Amino acid sequence: MTERKHNFNAGPAVLPYSVLKQVHSQLLDFDQLGLSLMEMSHRSPEFDQVINDAKASLTRLYSIPDTHEVMFLQGGASLQFAMIPYNLGSGGAYINTGTWSTRAYKEACTIGTADEIWSDEGNGFKHVPQPEELPSLPAASTYLHYTSNNTIYGTQYQYVPKTELPLICDMSSDFISRPINVADFDLIYAGAQKNAGPSGVTVLIIKKAISRHFVGDARTPKILRYVTQAEKGSMYNTPNTFGIWVIKLVAEWVESQGGLAAIHALNQAKANHLYDVIDAHPLCVGHATDVSRSLMNVTFRMDSEDREQAFTQLCQTKGIIGIKGHRSVGGLRASIYNAMPQSSVETLADLLASFRG
Ligand code: PMP
Repeated sequence: MTERKHNFNAGPAVLPYSVLKQVHSQLLDFDQLGLSLMEMSHRSPEFDQVINDAKASLTRLYSIPDTHEVMFLQGGASLQFAMIPYNLGSGGAYINTGTWSTRAYKEACTIGTADEIWSDEGNGFKHVPQPEELPSLPAASTYLHYTSNNTIYGTQYQYVPKTELPLICDMSSDFISRPINVADFDLIYAGAQKNAGPSGVTVLIIKKAISRHFVGDARTPKILRYVTQAEKGSMYNTPNTFGIWVIKLVAEWVESQGGLAAIHALNQAKANHLYDVIDAHPLCVGHATDVSRSLMNVTFRMDSEDREQAFTQLCQTKGIIGIKGHRSVGGLRASIYNAMPQSSVETLADLLASFRG
């Protein structure tokens, strides 16, 4: 096989190699049934086992309480930007920390009313608000929405905002990367394609009070109501069976690594190593404020775009890919999700440390 790349893509992104090997070995003949999982009915007992195993593994990882349930939907995290206001109604309070929270807020405004209660746009999205910076919410607010990790800007909350209102979090790019207390949230959603699996599935951990009782507008299409999918176990229509299988394997892999606390410690070590090299480098400056630095997406700049391009090209020659910043912001970004091996981070860090352009 071609030598495997050091893959720093932001998503779809690196998956655990052992999971890819499991998929490879089972792709043609799933569990010795004489057919591929992709050819199997989503109503079969075999697939039932897969989806239940996926839910069970996520439930163990996060110690998900009985008040909440796991769902697997389609339409990406972006569809959740719409489903949230369709299901929870107007009055969402949105903290704007980047491109995706802007999109979530704007989508809510197309469906009803919503408030942007804090934004770092004027500052180039370098920062996530610290607890003391959060304003009090408008009196009519009905829920609080935030993005725990800003994939494009490389910022991340290191705490969970406190509120009496339903708390909703777009956890797309730091899902299953660290422990959290699920009971603090009413809805967590994550496009799988960063930490949890391939694109095409969105994982939800949702409070049953929301998923089992529709309170939105009567004209809301059935397919956009959480209750529709919840009552059918995420199988109101044909789900992404392949994606759910890979999520099961990835979640079980995280368990085999020691669970969320253990993977978090590894993620911290990988990120600290890279940030140390950036901070010590005469040509580099990190994008995020110290308290907002992401453990998942490490963003930085060099003193000129030419140097950044030269470094990106040098990386290519060493099998390092995906470190060009998002097209909307430029600079450099190394996405170092759960499955990114420490050795790949070291390869990048060593190359960067010795680079002078
Ligand atoms: N939220 C965040 C934090 C993301 O990083 C992304 C995708 N990069 C999205 C939402 C949109 O996800 P999707 O493409 O699955 O709709």
